[in-house]
Amino acid sequence: MSFKPANNIQDLQYFGEFGGVNPSVSDSSTYTFLSAKTMFDTFEGNADGCYLYSRHSSPSNLYLGEALAAMENTEAAHVTSSGMAAITSVLLQLCQAEDHIISSRTIYGGTYAFLKNFLPRFKISTNFVDITNLAAVEAAITNNTKVIFCETVSNPLLEVADIKKLSILAKKHKLTLVVDNTFSPLSISPKVLGADIVIHSLTKFINGSSDTVGGVICGTHKFINALRDVNTGATMLLGPTMDSLRASSILKNLRTLHIRMQQHSKNALNLAKKFENLGLKTVYPGLKSHPSHQLFKSMMNESYGFGGMLTINVGSLDKANQLMELMQHKNLGYLAVSLGFYKTLFSAPGTSTSSEIPLDEQKAMGLSDGLIRFSIGLDADIERTFKMMFDCMLELHILKPSIV
Ligand SMILES: *Cc1c(COP(=O)(O)O)cnc(C)c1O
Repeated sequence: MSFKPANNIQDLQYFGEFGGVNPSVSDSSTYTFLSAKTMFDTFEGNADGCYLYSRHSSPSNLYLGEALAAMENTEAAHVTSSGMAAITSVLLQLCQAEDHIISSRTIYGGTYAFLKNFLPRFKISTNFVDITNLAAVEAAITNNTKVIFCETVSNPLLEVADIKKLSILAKKHKLTLVVDNTFSPLSISPKVLGADIVIHSLTKFINGSSDTVGGVICGTHKFINALRDVNTGATMLLGPTMDSLRASSILKNLRTLHIRMQQHSKNALNLAKKFENLGLKTVYPGLKSHPSHQLFKSMMNESYGFGGMLTINVGSLDKANQLMELMQHKNLGYLAVSLGFYKTLFSAPGTSTSSEIPLDEQKAMGLSDGLIRFSIGLDADIERTFKMMFDCMLELHILKPSIV
């Protein structure tokens, strides 16, 4: 794979009003016109380069969108106020009453709840399938199916979707393949592999500083323009607009994403190997034992690694909670949801980010009580981190002293 997403971002140049090295921030909600005719044309979508109102678009949001489109190799992108705003706008744009969606069953809890509890109000139904089972995906297709939805690397079980094969299936049945790539920015480029629309929660790795929520929709000019249509566009009419000041701050953080992803991945692979060697049940796509290790390798862009997310199973929720509290006490990370921060974050998904999923369904998808999800941080000294985590596990009898 020769796609180089970080180069694409780096090659874009934006200057500020006075030759600043960063683009000026457009701190305005509305824009003046020299002539009434231009205002009318802008409403009609015929005045390129003119701004009307910031819910439609704004210069700062367009800079960030352009950089993210370059990263995902799509024609265009639209930034939104959150990842959920991106997901819900896309699905409401693509589907209408009586339509049907096929979704991976291991997805972000909020997305699951939206598909399962909210969309049925509009008579849009969803089948949840094991996305790694292509025969099951194809068998679920009906005459009303419009969308296949999945995460490249799923939350929290870290299952890997075969984007190429899913896209062949989608094309064969004239469906839109929508991929949430939040867990694997730079590492995997779903559009290059055949996805139609790529979504990110910018809240996570891309912004990387846990100071805001944000989202992006990457797709064709046609689709992005449809979202912004003043009469029928989901982002225009639902209004999940990112603020210009925030767009400018996320763009600056995007500049270091490639370095951060390399460090997240390096640290996560190091810890995953050591945890597995200790006999802990460890899931990380970079481990040979991961069922989709070869698939991930075949899809990945060189040099960004297998990402910063890993899970271990310590047997019970009780043990998981004790371990997380002790690790936080020793300043090894924070007991917090979310991901992509400089500090390691850990949570028990069954009782937090996936708690929207009923217990019996959690069991069916292999989401067990003792699971801890780690977003591995940018630690400068991962050997020290490992030693300290190891000591915590000994203290709580998660590991037996005999293996020392
Ligand atoms: C966090 C997350 C979302 C939701 O994004 P928000 O920015 O919190 O709205 C969607 N998908 C995945 C995979 C996530 O991790």
